[in-house]
Amino acid sequence: MKIHEYQACELLASYGVPVPSGIVVESADAAVAAYEQLAGDSATKVAVVKAQVHAGGRGKGGGVRVVRSADGARQAASEILSKPLVTHQTGPQGVAVKKLLVVAGVDIVKEYYVGMAIDRAAGCPVLIASSEGGVEIEAVARDNPDAIVREPVDPTTGLQAFQGRKVAYSIGLSGKLVSQAVKLMGNLARAFVATDASLAEINPLVVTPPTEAHPDGQLLAIDAKINFDDNALFRQPKIAAMADPSEQDEAEARAAEHDLNYINLDGNIGCLVNGAGLAMATMDLVKLHGAEPANFLDVGGSASEQAVTEAFRIILEDDAVKGVLVNIFGGIAKCDTIAAAIITAAKDVGFQVPLVVRLEGTNVEKARELLDGAKDSIPTFQTATDLTDAARKITVAIAA
Ligand code: ADP
Ligand code: MG
Repeated sequence: MKIHEYQACELLASYGVPVPSGIVVESADAAVAAYEQLAGDSATKVAVVKAQVHAGGRGKGGGVRVVRSADGARQAASEILSKPLVTHQTGPQGVAVKKLLVVAGVDIVKEYYVGMAIDRAAGCPVLIASSEGGVEIEAVARDNPDAIVREPVDPTTGLQAFQGRKVAYSIGLSGKLVSQAVKLMGNLARAFVATDASLAEINPLVVTPPTEAHPDGQLLAIDAKINFDDNALFRQPKIAAMADPSEQDEAEARAAEHDLNYINLDGNIGCLVNGAGLAMATMDLVKLHGAEPANFLDVGGSASEQAVTEAFRIILEDDAVKGVLVNIFGGIAKCDTIAAAIITAAKDVGFQVPLVVRLEGTNVEKARELLDGAKDSIPTFQTATDLTDAARKITVAIAA
């Protein structure tokens, strides 16, 4: 599960991570009021208006605007709210912006990156830090891997002070900033473990200019992103309550309600498969035969006829789908359940596009009988003998 930047900042602040003060608004008028409150009386008069969407790269896409006046705040807010925000993570259609975060402008001396993730190879959380902040960490990992440091974190003891110091020095911090960083990274690690997060990034973590009280400057988290493990939400009611359904892909939300593992993709072959591994293999074969999958869909082993029918509805309502490939290896899943769902979906929605079905395993004879009996009502229906045959047939069918 993902949350917005403003929620991530509030959460990190509650764990003692310093963040600038901000106000969430939904209109240009409210943005002006927030500007006056945050920056109207400040020396620099600088505030930042930030689109709140579940996608990164907002700065480059025009979703983060530095403003220096109330008028500037009004203009930035109405522009951001007026059209979908396109970033490298949203796809070309972009996403609608409904909320903005107005924050006090921060003078930045240098930008760093710190984040927590799960290191699957090591089987534990890992702290990741870099002196190259403000840019995408994936790009740093590709172009300048030496600029990234990683430190495993024991989830029971948390990040130890010596580990924090090691990381702080390796990204080039010095003086009083080191102890600030140790505290901040320890708190970030604590928040990560306590909330069952799968990713928690502060990018950028900035150093502010020196002042009398802080001659080495201060560390401040000015962007935060946190994702959570869906499987732990049952014991994280406060986190679950932060979900914003309007940010979720509508088809994916519907699929989740029926316990289907569905991810919308860019291609044109709708795939209905049981088991994540077989779903991946099916997508690979579709690609190998020159087409692109429109989705990843694992209906699971124990899916009911109703859930599988819903899966077909979701696939068939996607205008991009030009053909449907069903690939079921019935172990726990029963082929006749899938066949019955195909027949119901054909009645309810209708298969206007080619349908290729490959069924093997439990109750396959019964499934074949059912489909044989219904084939006149599904004119685009073909059977396939194996997976390669299925992938070949569907690519030929959509090209015809
Ligand atoms: P994204 O990662 O989605 O592009 P960020 O919040 O990281 O969005 O903002 C992009 C850049 O905008 C930051 O790297 C930083 O340079 C600048 N920025 C963001 N918030 C502030 C702020 N409160 N004060 C000054 N500059 C900011
Ligand atoms: Mg950022």
